[in-house]
Amino acid sequence: MAEYILTAEDYYNGLRENKLMGLKCKSCGAVTCPPMKVCDTCGSEDLEVVQLSGKGTLRTFTVSRVPPEGFEAPYCPCIVETDEGPWVPGRLNVDADAATQDLIGKRVTATHYVLPADKYSAGEMVSALWSLEE
Ligand SMILES: [Zn+2]
Repeated sequence: MAEYILTAEDYYNGLRENKLMGLKCKSCGAVTCPPMKVCDTCGSEDLEVVQLSGKGTLRTFTVSRVPPEGFEAPYCPCIVETDEGPWVPGRLNVDADAATQDLIGKRVTATHYVLPADKYSAGEMVSALWSLEE
């Protein structure tokens, strides 16, 4: 039975220090992020914890103007293809009112943001915040 060598808590604690943590497969070399019990590519349980570069390419985003309860709009949920391979969701750190599709394909770097606890969560949540590279 596989065990989590990188738990969700480990992952979020890494993000709080602006470290994007993942798992590298010793069988196929692929990187899995966010963490899972097995390699996202080949299913192997033979994994090691690695720190990703925190850099990648913006693949898609949208502007959310009608937020879930407790969120402030507008904001930009996005998906980034990291340089190590995994596609990692988060929030895009741009002016949502000025964002256009021209941003897709731009280079981005991860830090993090914190969402306060609400009545649906067990506590505050941490997620990747992707900012455009200078
Ligand atoms: Zn693998």
